Amino acid sequence: MNIVIVGHVDHGKSTVIGRLLADTHSLPEGKLEQIRAQCELNSKPFEYAFLLDALKDEQAQGITIDAARVFFKSQLRHYLILDAPGHIEFLKNMITGAARAEAALLVIDAQEGVQENSRRHGYMVSLLGITQLAVVVNKMDLVGWDRGVFDRIVTEYGAFLDQVGIKPSCFIPVSARGGDNIADRSAQLPWYQGPTVLDALDAFRSEPAPVELPFRMPVQDVYKFTKQGDDRRIVAGTIDSGAVSVGDSVIFYPSGKKSRVKTIEAFNRPVQRRAEAGWSVGLTLQEQIYIPRGEMATLESQPRPQVTTRLRVSLFWLGKAPMVTKKEYLLKLGTARVTVRLEEVLRVMDASTLDATDQRKVIKRHDVAECVLKLDRAIACDLAEHVAATSRFVIVDDFEIRGGGIVREALSDRQASVRDRVLLRNYKWEPSSVQPEHRAEKYNQKAALILVTGEHEADRKGVAKALEGKLFEDGKVVYFLGIGNVLYGVDADIERKQENRLEHMRRLAEVANLMLDAGIILVVAAAELTQDDLEVIKTAVEPEWIETVWAGDSITTDLVCDLQLPGGAVPEAVDRLKAHLQDKGIIFRPW
Ligand code: GDP
Repeated sequence: MNIVIVGHVDHGKSTVIGRLLADTHSLPEGKLEQIRAQCELNSKPFEYAFLLDALKDEQAQGITIDAARVFFKSQLRHYLILDAPGHIEFLKNMITGAARAEAALLVIDAQEGVQENSRRHGYMVSLLGITQLAVVVNKMDLVGWDRGVFDRIVTEYGAFLDQVGIKPSCFIPVSARGGDNIADRSAQLPWYQGPTVLDALDAFRSEPAPVELPFRMPVQDVYKFTKQGDDRRIVAGTIDSGAVSVGDSVIFYPSGKKSRVKTIEAFNRPVQRRAEAGWSVGLTLQEQIYIPRGEMATLESQPRPQVTTRLRVSLFWLGKAPMVTKKEYLLKLGTARVTVRLEEVLRVMDASTLDATDQRKVIKRHDVAECVLKLDRAIACDLAEHVAATSRFVIVDDFEIRGGGIVREALSDRQASVRDRVLLRNYKWEPSSVQPEHRAEKYNQKAALILVTGEHEADRKGVAKALEGKLFEDGKVVYFLGIGNVLYGVDADIERKQENRLEHMRRLAEVANLMLDAGIILVVAAAELTQDDLEVIKTAVEPEWIETVWAGDSITTDLVCDLQLPGGAVPEAVDRLKAHLQDKGIIFRPW
C-alpha cells in the first residue's frame, strides 16, 4: 500500500518514518547500529531522521529521485512510504502518477500546534482525492503528555478537515522520538485508547486499481518497427484506469481516430490478451493511424472523455510570482503538453484559512483558485468526479512546476460544433493504403499548411505564389490555394457574411486536411486571419502541421504567427519563408 506523509517542516515526519522502519524491523541488517556509531563518532545525538537520510543517500546514488521511497512491512502487508520534501514534489508525484498514494499521514507538532502548512497539506490531500487520512499529533513528550493539548488540536484541525471534506480515520497522540504509539502502545498515554500509527495504517482500505472505470491510456510514445516493409507501430503508455483486450475498438482523443487492438505487448511479461490499470503496455493496431504522443486511448464502447480548449478547474498555485492572465504557461495532463492561459479567476481561496474572495484577478502563491483555463489546442481529459487520474494536471512555467489541480468542468468553446464534425470525420475516416511517412519519404518533404496572411494592402498572394513557384522548381509537391478558389467553389452554397465565417473556415480547413493527407505542402493566401480563424482551422487540421505567416509591417489582428515578413521585395520574403520551412524540418536543408 502506498502512503504519503505530509506535515509542516520539523514537525517530525522523518522521525515517524525512521521509527516505523526501526520498530517493524524493516531496516537493512546493522543499519541502525551503523548510524548510531556514526553519530557517536561525530559526537552528535542520534536522530531517527538520520536513518531516512542514509537510505535516501543510498537511493540517490542510483537515480535522481524527487521523493524518497521507503519500504517497510507490518504483519498485515507491505508499505511504500513517500516522503515528499515539499509541496512541489508532493504535487508532482501525485499528479504525474510517478507515485500515487492511497492514504496519507499528516504530522502535527503538539507543542507548535496547527500551522499554515498543516492546513495547506490537508487541503492538497483533499484536492488530490485521497480520502483516507490519519493525523499524527507528535512530540507529546514536550507537552507533558497532556490530554488537553491533544484534544484542542483534534477540535481545531478536525473542524478544518471537515470544511475541506475529509473525515480523518483517527488522531493519534505520539512521541516519534521515543517510539510512543508508533508501532507499540505507550505507557505514557494511558488516556488514549485508539490505534497506534501502525494500527491506523493497517486499518486503511487498500484501494483496488481502478479497473472498473473507463479505459484510459495516455499515449507516451509511438514506436515504429524498423524492419523493411513492416508498417506496424507500437502505441506505448501506462494504463491509468480500466482495461483493454485484443480485438477492442479503441478511439484516440482529442483526434477521434479509431482502430482495433491487434496485440498487447506488456513490459517484462508474455504477450497478453488483456491488460489493465497500472500496467505499462504497447498496443499494436489493426488499422494503421497517425497518432502523436499526448493523445489518450479510450474504448469505443465506454463513455468518451472531454475534448475542449476551455476548462474550469480547481487549482493550487505554488509559484513565487502570481499566476496572471495574458501570460503563457504550459499545462501537462497525462502525456499531453499544451500552452495555456488563465482566462478568468472565478474564486480564490486561501488554502490555509479557507477565506474566499471572488474579487481577485490573479492567483497568488498558496492560493487555491477556481478558474477558467484556455488552452492553445484541444486536449482530452476527464472530470475529477468521473476519472480522477485523467483529470489531474500541473502548470509549468520556466521549466518548473508552479501549480497543479483537477478538472471540474469542460467548458464549450467556439470551435465545439466544428470539433464534433471533425471527430465524426476521423471516426469514419478510411485510411489510405500509403502511410504518411512513406509519402513524406517519396516526396522528400513533410506535408504542411502554410497560411500566408496579412493586411489587405500586403502582397500575400504574390508571396504565396512565388513560394509555390520556388518550391516547385526545387521538386517539391506544392500547391497554391487562394481563398477565392474555395469561396466560389466549395462554399458556393453559403453567403459571404460574417456569421458564416466559421463555416467558411471549416470548409477551408477540410480541403486543406485532404491535401495534407495527400502529402502536399499547401500554401494558402487569405487576408487578415484572426486567432479565432486559426483555432477553427487547428480543430480540423493537425495543429503541428500548420505554419502561420504574416506579410506586412504591422500585425493588425490578434493572430499569433510563426513568422512575420515585413513589407518589401517578394524574393527576399520567399527566401526567408523557405529558410523558415527548412528550420521547421518541412523541407530538407542540404547542408
Ligand atoms: P521533519 O522535518 O518533519 O521530517 O522533522 P524531523 O523528523 O526531522 O524532526 C524534527 C526535529 O524534531 C528533530 O530534531 C527530531 O528529533 C525532533 N522530534 C521528532 N519527533 C519528536 C518527538 O516525538 N519528541 C521530541 N521531543 N522531538 C521530536
